[in-house]
Amino acid sequence: LNFELKILGSNSAAPAHNRHQTAQLLSIYNQLYMIDCGEGTQMQLTRYKVKFHRINHIFISHLHGDHYIGLIGLISTMHLQKRESDLTIYGPPGLSDILTLQLKYSQTILSYKINFKEYDPSSRQIVLDDEHVTVETIPLKHRVACSGFLIREKPNKRRLNKLKNLEQFNLQQLLDLKDGKDILDEEGSILYQNEDFTLPPKKARSYAYCSDTLYDEGIIGQIQNVDLLYHEATFLSDREERAKETFHSTARQAATIAKKADVGQLVIGHFSIRYKDLNPLLQEARETFKNTVLAIEGETIAVEFVSLF
Ligand SMILES: [Zn+2]
Ligand SMILES: [Zn+2]
Repeated sequence: LNFELKILGSNSAAPAHNRHQTAQLLSIYNQLYMIDCGEGTQMQLTRYKVKFHRINHIFISHLHGDHYIGLIGLISTMHLQKRESDLTIYGPPGLSDILTLQLKYSQTILSYKINFKEYDPSSRQIVLDDEHVTVETIPLKHRVACSGFLIREKPNKRRLNKLKNLEQFNLQQLLDLKDGKDILDEEGSILYQNEDFTLPPKKARSYAYCSDTLYDEGIIGQIQNVDLLYHEATFLSDREERAKETFHSTARQAATIAKKADVGQLVIGHFSIRYKDLNPLLQEARETFKNTVLAIEGETIAVEFVSLF
């Protein structure tokens, strides 16, 4: 079952060098979760053949235009496509006011319902808890209120051990075994021990999205050991002062966070328009954290199951 990240936009501030403003799609068990929605996101969805109606949850980190200005276009197209199912948008205070006003003055009554879920950017909050994932906000340090998102797969069930005689069990008993239960007789005493027929579950996978932010070691505890970390890397280290002034991070700082949090893999993005060639950013990050890749639009980064053995 899949757990993968698709990069739709990787630039900061403005589109440049064929790169777009920030947007990502996380696909978990074929459910699509959008994170940020910069200008042109709907064009990117079309380019990569993603059906709009498959997106039911959109998470917005903050109200700088490069992270949300694509929303009104996407919402409007969903309406033209006669979408019917609800769309839930998670954002900081102010986002629902902005969108409601845009719709009001275009006299648009949407064909579907938008549920606005406002979170408090100053604290960690669980904003979504469904059958597949939990999503928690990560308070970040930026010029305006800003949150990242920590997305965790729900714990997996135990796996049936196919080397054992499973044919003796009926369907309900097999489901009970996967839930970790023993098989009991009618008096309630144990007939078969669970561990004799099952293997431990696969490790639940996780993704942390951290953009935009100053270098902040305060987030390390929350994102410790995630399988995949996206951390903004707007600048190279020679512009560390500039990064600090603008509440952004350098590639080395992103890698330092990845190293200290002992994550599986790092993706860097939110590149400044000053960099046409991104390789220096990648090289700089890899000096500190080897398993780093660039956020390249159209590419998909899969998080594989890691066996617990
Ligand atoms: Zn930004
Ligand atoms: Zn920003």
